[in-house]
Amino acid sequence: GLPEVPVRPIAERRVSRRIQVGPVAVGGGAPVSVQSMTTTRTSDIGATLQQIAELTAAGCQIVRVACPTQDDADALPVIARKSQIPVVADIHFQPKYVFAAIEAGCAAVRVNPGNIKQFDDKVKEIAKAAKDHGTPIRIGVNAGSLDRRLLQKYGRATPEALAESALWEASLFEEHDFRDIKISVKHNDPVVMVEAYRQLAARCDYPLHLGVTEAGPAFQGTIKSAVAFGALLSQGIGDTIRVSLSAPPVEEIKVGIQILQSLGLRERRLEIVSCPSCGRAQVDVYKLAEEVTAGLEGMEVPLRVAVMGCVVNGPGEAREADLGVASGNGKGQIFVRGEVVRTVPESKIVETLIEEAMRIAEQKEKDGASG
Ligand code: SF4
Repeated sequence: GLPEVPVRPIAERRVSRRIQVGPVAVGGGAPVSVQSMTTTRTSDIGATLQQIAELTAAGCQIVRVACPTQDDADALPVIARKSQIPVVADIHFQPKYVFAAIEAGCAAVRVNPGNIKQFDDKVKEIAKAAKDHGTPIRIGVNAGSLDRRLLQKYGRATPEALAESALWEASLFEEHDFRDIKISVKHNDPVVMVEAYRQLAARCDYPLHLGVTEAGPAFQGTIKSAVAFGALLSQGIGDTIRVSLSAPPVEEIKVGIQILQSLGLRERRLEIVSCPSCGRAQVDVYKLAEEVTAGLEGMEVPLRVAVMGCVVNGPGEAREADLGVASGNGKGQIFVRGEVVRTVPESKIVETLIEEAMRIAEQKEKDGASG
């Protein structure tokens, strides 16, 4: 059979305590999970569940929903029960919604202590309720809403201020013997964010939820998140990730999964190795690569497909792949593991690749089944 695409973790993972967000383990060597947040009004149960279903289909493992009003809090029990993936309630300002979310059966609750007045006084009750229900708490510190005391002490949201804020809040829970915690310290500047997480990683064993906050529109946000998460995950830091984009949440999931695959932290399913094109190209490589990607998306078997604009490097590069095409003279040479198996007219390249991919996938499945 064909070789499986190997998973090569980029680094030893930092040793962290494990928590359970519903059925999803976070920390303690569990695979890095990908999460997102709904953009619907949480009180609109139908729309929220619909978006959660779309996120689930895209590979989202944990979903967060905002809970700014009583109507949103009232919707939590149904959403938590009907969602296929664990639901985390995101609470700012109002401690009463923390209790509502725990009662509602949410898989976890995110609190932002900087945004909850008299939070410190409430910790004892929150810790008790969370412990009674087995609900973990994410302490989510955000540069934009840093605790006033720390802002005064450091002057601005420095890495030290972010880490200290999170550890201070965690220590309040620890006083009540509550350690079912994960932490995030988000900043919109990847350099500050990376340093804050490094400090945090060195000073506690809580699992860490990575995020660059307000990362921006899709292109900029993707790059900021990829660079920041890459820097941290390549040092073994990070247990769950959320890419924040000013774009539909399904896009966040796609980017998150790609980041983990690029770092060898998750098995790559479909990998398109396409050339950048150049003056030698005899086909529209961008269009071809996109069509092939769309045609093969969702394949369950790992597959590496080379799309080459000409025959100069085509055969060589295609040899490394399960499947490939090199174009020339209005035709496409179709390669399976470096051997030309067919030559087809340009208009048939995509469908032929899909056919061959199906054949290879079947073969791989058979090989897998027979051990
Ligand atoms: Fe240029 Fe051909 Fe290489 Fe593509 S495969 S970059 S067209 S030389």
